[in-house]
Amino acid sequence: MIPIAKPFLGREEKDAVISVLESGMLAAGSFVTDFENDFSSYIEMPCAVACGSGTAALELALRTHGIQKGDKILTTAYSFIASANCIVYTGATPCFCDIDTASFLMTPAHIRAALEKHSDVKAILAVHLFGQPCDMEAILAIARERGLLVIEDCAQSHGAVWDGRRAGSYGDASCFSFYPTKNMTTAEGGMVLLRDEDTARRCRMLANHGMRERYRHEIIGYNYRMTNIAAAIGAAQLKKLPGFNAARQKNAVYLSAHISNPLITTPAVTRGCEHVFHQYTVKVKDRDRFVRHLEARGIGYGIFYPLTIPEQQCYGGMGFEEDFPGADEVKQQVVSLPVHPSLTDDDLGEIVRAVNEFQ
Ligand SMILES: *Cc1c(COP(=O)(O)O)cnc(C)c1O
Repeated sequence: MIPIAKPFLGREEKDAVISVLESGMLAAGSFVTDFENDFSSYIEMPCAVACGSGTAALELALRTHGIQKGDKILTTAYSFIASANCIVYTGATPCFCDIDTASFLMTPAHIRAALEKHSDVKAILAVHLFGQPCDMEAILAIARERGLLVIEDCAQSHGAVWDGRRAGSYGDASCFSFYPTKNMTTAEGGMVLLRDEDTARRCRMLANHGMRERYRHEIIGYNYRMTNIAAAIGAAQLKKLPGFNAARQKNAVYLSAHISNPLITTPAVTRGCEHVFHQYTVKVKDRDRFVRHLEARGIGYGIFYPLTIPEQQCYGGMGFEEDFPGADEVKQQVVSLPVHPSLTDDDLGEIVRAVNEFQ
């Protein structure tokens, strides 16, 4: 069985974790600060706050920018649920935007159409789904016109590039996840990147029980801190991230060059961007039969995602009755195939053969 995802951990991660265990500094510690500095330099955003998950990073980014009850935030109808739940946690209301059926992304045109209906939105939460960045220049232009905040959900796009700059360097804040299936991992972990020290201080306080001085709690915060153990893994993984992404891209190029089955649509890469293939997502009309075929051939796969966010049970009764025809089409056709850096040439050959022999 070729798995759909496999974290790639080596000697460096093991050595780093052992050195944290031996130091006794398990929670806060110098690995956290070093990882924050390394990560913010890599993405080229001035400030970083490490935290416990990508979901926590998103909530922190919104709360740091004052998002609260009564506010409306625009995000995509088609993503992992955390892209919308983070809005609900702050007391604000999500509203949703449809996607392009080729790139799976919220485009400037979809955002403009959604803003016609929801003119009182305060922020755009842009999601770079599957590793491909949204058109950030155009999204920033829309935001500037209307005075909106822009938050980037980069949980699937570590290292992706839009027009010469990395995803996560465009918005007022950007949020990363280091869950084991992502392009790099810390087990559980996340990071918020921010534009200035003042905002970063507020974010750090929120993540640490509203505390700057020990046991003086200025605001009601959370325990959303990253552990020193997680940061040690993260710092080692970050050094390997360019290699991981290059391997994902090479695997994706191979798959797209060799998959020739007319029943399968291979992923579209927007010109001028660097897609880091968190997922390699194809479309197929008869998906049930296709996934049964993959199962019989021992090829792991994932369906990201079988439902749009607004139609999830937990959003029932919240009044999201709009139609999202793009997302509705995509959710019935998508299948993600293995593309991770642990794949061998034999694995790639097997995937291509299995896909091409589907009829
Ligand atoms: C994984 C993911 C998150 C949440 O990250 P966690 O670390 O699992 O909390 C948020 N948004 C998207 C798009 C994701 O893929």
